[in-house]
Amino acid sequence: MNAPAPTLARETNAAPVVLRAENIGVTFHGNGKPVEAIRKVDFELHQGETLAIVGPSGCGKSTLFNAIAGLLRPTSGHVDVGGVRVGDAAGHVGYMLQKDLLLPWRTVLDNVMLGLEIRKVPKPRAREIALELIKTYGLAGFEHTKPAALSGGMRQRVAIMRTLAFDPEVVLLDEPFSALDFQTRLLMQADVSRIIAERGKSAILVTHDIGEAIAMANRVLVLSARPATVRALHVVNLPREGRDPAALRTDPLFQEYFAKIWADLEKPAGVA
Ligand code: ADP
Ligand code: MG
Repeated sequence: MNAPAPTLARETNAAPVVLRAENIGVTFHGNGKPVEAIRKVDFELHQGETLAIVGPSGCGKSTLFNAIAGLLRPTSGHVDVGGVRVGDAAGHVGYMLQKDLLLPWRTVLDNVMLGLEIRKVPKPRAREIALELIKTYGLAGFEHTKPAALSGGMRQRVAIMRTLAFDPEVVLLDEPFSALDFQTRLLMQADVSRIIAERGKSAILVTHDIGEAIAMANRVLVLSARPATVRALHVVNLPREGRDPAALRTDPLFQEYFAKIWADLEKPAGVA
């Protein structure tokens, strides 16, 4: 049997709920036998928090992400964002994928403007918003540069700007840094966390990287191997602000969280 859904969220965070996922189940019906990817997953996201969702490779994280983003209709359950059911309307979420490549033929400015154009924001206004973001986040001077001439970290920063440009209620990140080298990844984790906090966004980070989850999230939801079910929910209380991302990882608290989450991932199926 499944463990009862954790209720830590309500006990530890008084901020309003911006996203609620209830009883999410996803089964794929392909040519062969059905593949159950997700089973009865519940969680809430509070205003201003970052929730990390970790689980082993292939457990159903991206599938869950797609259900939250409204890219896939779950077999059971539903997701509400800002009280609106995802699927009935385009959820007010901005997402960034692992392979969220920038359009190579577009400049930095045009890439940041993309989401605004799709949402029919008038071009002069879109340009203004994009230029402001580019300036704020340290890419002034690169407005007319094509992505190929940027470093991996800079490209990632353009991708997060594009995600934030239309001011989504919730930011969804699916393994956003996995294509980067280790050093750049640590720096980007700190960078993106800071940007999300500065803009007062709520975020869901999907990752298989425990360290990334602890470095970036206020809470960590641990999923089992496929079909993904909720194994545990950890509250992460770690002073992160202004800290060197490498030094953060040597904090005994960081290592304590790491060991706990690692142990949750290791549990055999059926053990809550
Ligand atoms: P993760 O992101 O955790 O690595 P995914 O959500 O991508 O895992 O996949 C979970 C499981 O669902 C995998 O076994 C995968 O093969 C299967 N799966 C994903 N998408 C489909 C699909 N469209 N049709 C059939 N099976 C799928
Ligand atoms: Mg995935």
